[in-house]
Amino acid sequence: MAKKKVKNKIPSKKYAKYKLEGNKLTRARLCPKCGPAVFLGEHKDRFYCGKCNYLEMK
Ligand SMILES: [Zn+2]
Repeated sequence: MAKKKVKNKIPSKKYAKYKLEGNKLTRARLCPKCGPAVFLGEHKDRFYCGKCNYLEMK
């Protein structure tokens, strides 16, 4: 019973989103704690980093 089934889920959607965010760098916020590779999640009135729980008010 070899595990030959590879997860064939290509994160095309996620990738597209990432690319999109790359084009909107002026809007996207980067986490000052995690570095420029981590984007902050945008919420109504704040940005939130899911990695280090950093919170930044708008
Ligand atoms: Zn962070």
